[in-house]
Amino acid sequence: MHSIDRRRFLASIGLGAGALVLPGCATRPRPASTGCLAPVRVSTDRVTRTVVGLRPYRDSGFVVREERLGATRLVHNYGHGGCGITLSWGTSRLAVDMGLQGHSGPVAVIGAGAVGLATARLVQEAGFPVTLYAAALPPTTTSDIAAGKIMPSGHYRPDAVTPEWRARFAAAAEYSLRRFESLLAGDFGVRRLPTYGEHGGGPPDPDVAAFMANARLLGPEEHPFAASRIRRYDGLYVDTGRYLSRLLGEIAAGGGAVLRRSFASPAEIVGLPQGLVFNCTGLGARELFGDGALRPARGVLVELAAQPEIGHAYTMAAGYMFTRPDRIILGGSFDLDDWSMEPDPATVAAILARHGRIAAGWRCAA
Ligand SMILES: Cc1cc2nc3c(=O)[nH]c(=O)nc-3n(C[C@H](O)[C@H](O)[C@H](O)COP(=O)(O)OP(=O)(O)OC[C@H]3O[C@@H](n4cnc5c(N)ncnc54)[C@H](O)[C@@H]3O)c2cc1C
Repeated sequence: MHSIDRRRFLASIGLGAGALVLPGCATRPRPASTGCLAPVRVSTDRVTRTVVGLRPYRDSGFVVREERLGATRLVHNYGHGGCGITLSWGTSRLAVDMGLQGHSGPVAVIGAGAVGLATARLVQEAGFPVTLYAAALPPTTTSDIAAGKIMPSGHYRPDAVTPEWRARFAAAAEYSLRRFESLLAGDFGVRRLPTYGEHGGGPPDPDVAAFMANARLLGPEEHPFAASRIRRYDGLYVDTGRYLSRLLGEIAAGGGAVLRRSFASPAEIVGLPQGLVFNCTGLGARELFGDGALRPARGVLVELAAQPEIGHAYTMAAGYMFTRPDRIILGGSFDLDDWSMEPDPATVAAILARHGRIAAGWRCAA
């Protein structure tokens, strides 16, 4: 495990290892005034699916930058690490504002993950015709694998970024939050869940505070977790599969052309008929544009059968859990420079063990 801002990273995705898979049953009496929550029933026989994805991670954060390739203007928008769903609208806003300045005529977007789709939609909203080219379309992108918590974490190393980048990150986070909140009312699979998380005693990190609506610290009698410092907030979550297919549908309905195509070199991009091209290829930018700073951060998710009685989420040092109507999602792992797309048994067992321990420490009856 790489040393990326370990404190913040632990708080967002969880680390550690465990050998035992513990049943998610109530083991301790609950304090009299606890608002009791149902624990997750964690066991191997309740696993319905395990998935693996490679996050496009850069120590120095996402890239939004313009360059010229002959007569073609190319605007990069990639490298979002563990929060490409979260920041997709915001960095796309930055990229589109940069690219459309002084532009006329059709526009190309390469990549159909969360970032490419948000970029294409913003280009359309600005009144330009757009063609989306991508080697893979939803539901087979990395973005479709993403857990779907809207939270800007796990995407840079604090000592590797500049004040200018931080300012752009803050602007991107603010715009993204607004866009996702505006989708709460629609059919995009965006919703809020009461979320419980460990905290160090102080206020939330400024990077993430705005994403924790109605945050407050809880007394020990107000939650069922074994950990003592717990914060509750209303977190935003998105069902990524549904969200991406709805967004792709909107782009097509808005007249956007969607073409499956893989680019092997920048020279092929120069050959496109569009004079303005957005590069939203995620981890693909490493090979396509030779960005060696872009590295895979492998993540494994374990999905369990739904438990309708669970209507909350948690993000603890040991891992995160949240529900969708049809499943429970358990994370996480974050292994830099690991290219393996196999959900290895050891990682799956470790995730189950960590969440099993959380459930076993539950302080109220099921
Ligand atoms: C297990 C896991 C959990 C995650 N959880 C969250 C979360 O809860 N919240 C969050 O915000 N983020 C999360 N992420 C991170 C998120 O998935 C990524 O940051 C995000 O998917 C990046 O989006 P993207 O559009 O840049 O890349 P992608 O989704 O990978 O899309 C890239 C697109 O570019 C295309 N492409 C690539 N190379 C080429 C080429 N040469 N020619 C043509 N097309 C090309 C691909 O085919 C694809 O269409 C998670 C990731 C993982 C793995």
